[in-house]
Amino acid sequence: MTTNWTVKSIRDSVNAGSTSAAAIIDEALRRIDEKDGEIGAFLEVFSDDARAAAKDVDARHASGETDLPLAGVPIALKDNMLVMGHIASAGSKMLQNYEASYTATVVKKLQDAGAIIIGRTNMDEFAFGSSTESSAFHVTKNPHDTSKVPGGTSGGSTAAVAAGMIPAALGSDTGGSIRQPASLCGVVGMKPTYGRVSRYGLIADGSSLDQIGPIATTVEDVALVLSIIEGKDVKDATSVVLAPLDPPINGGKVLDLSTIRIGVPKEYFIDGMDEEVAARIHEAIDVLKKGGAEIVNMSLPLAPYALPAFYIIQPAEASSNLARFDGMRYGNRGEGVIEESYRSARGAGLGAEAKRRIMLGTFILSAGYYDAFYKKAIAVRAAMKIEFDAALAAVDVIVGPVSPVVAWGIGEKMDDPVSMYLADVFTVSANILGIPGISVPCGTAHGLPVGLQILGKNFDDQKVLDVALAFETLRKGV
Ligand code: GLN
Repeated sequence: MTTNWTVKSIRDSVNAGSTSAAAIIDEALRRIDEKDGEIGAFLEVFSDDARAAAKDVDARHASGETDLPLAGVPIALKDNMLVMGHIASAGSKMLQNYEASYTATVVKKLQDAGAIIIGRTNMDEFAFGSSTESSAFHVTKNPHDTSKVPGGTSGGSTAAVAAGMIPAALGSDTGGSIRQPASLCGVVGMKPTYGRVSRYGLIADGSSLDQIGPIATTVEDVALVLSIIEGKDVKDATSVVLAPLDPPINGGKVLDLSTIRIGVPKEYFIDGMDEEVAARIHEAIDVLKKGGAEIVNMSLPLAPYALPAFYIIQPAEASSNLARFDGMRYGNRGEGVIEESYRSARGAGLGAEAKRRIMLGTFILSAGYYDAFYKKAIAVRAAMKIEFDAALAAVDVIVGPVSPVVAWGIGEKMDDPVSMYLADVFTVSANILGIPGISVPCGTAHGLPVGLQILGKNFDDQKVLDVALAFETLRKGV
């Protein structure tokens, strides 16, 4: 294969006619065949459909469509996005036989742009977790060290990209599930602003928090995929009309950092954080400073409340969203009638973490506790919004770590849910506030990847990408 395994170089060679989409898909299937036995990133590879779709793209090329923005690019989907006629299980036994009856908007947009959906990837059940170990099917391994987790919940999508099987994948991020595995696997992953990308056809986790986003090996590739999947969708009332992204790829321009103010909140360096990880983040901040950016030390006193507020809001929303998986509307039918049937369907179909979230969520929303927990968390969310808005008014972006630690050993945190929840301490704010955030590789600690998080103002995804591209470019020069 003469093409680099990036989104941009694949689409350029397919558009130029120097390779075919069919050859690209053969190569992707070969790579998956070679590597996925060890990594376990995929739940299903759509070999036949992908080959047929590649033929279609080659036919479009032959009939004169030589500028498809994602021509022949193999893209995998986290298993919570619907493709009509294919299983979408959300990593759950409950939905292991559920066949989608329609296609998610993001998938349609990818296909129109010439991309080829290559398969569905492993995830924590219903996107609850931080390690992909809560999948009902198998464990996915970190390609940098197969004794470690890849992070989660989009661990399958991320590991497939990090192992070089595919150039890009989609994940979903409710509390960090794109950025955290990207950080732990050493690739780029972005959670766009809430509303930038349609959630139509995404199996819901926490509806006010969920956002679909891309994972790839370069900032340019992430921008390219995001520029295709974004946009207002009449089928998702929370999607927003926006000026489209100007992917940095097209202009080929790198932002001049001397025009940029970067906030560094002191609350993003906490006790108990891995010192080597903190050191990598400080070095990354130095790189940005040397590149000309003005570094502004700041404080976000409410930031420490983001995690407790998240673990109230998320279970409340998720427990409501999961009510439909009762074995009658969706899922495998239980034994007995009505209540007994619900009980047996949910008892057998759902795993430990999903049950924990449902119990937490229903408790939080029950009479008497609603005011004490849910209402308080919503008040924290509102106060955080005022604080972050004011902070972001004074700077262009905020930077800090994605994760306080590097990838941990498989099995290490499975018996300690609270320590698993703590892994999300730096990522959940972006979901609570809706703001865009990206993870960009910034070196290694203990031999494992570390990601720098860049957070921006609502709908200023462009600035986040521009700063990320500038950082990535400067780092290459170091
Ligand atoms: N780790 C968080 C949770 O378990 C967020 C997961 C996600 O972003 N889907 O809820």
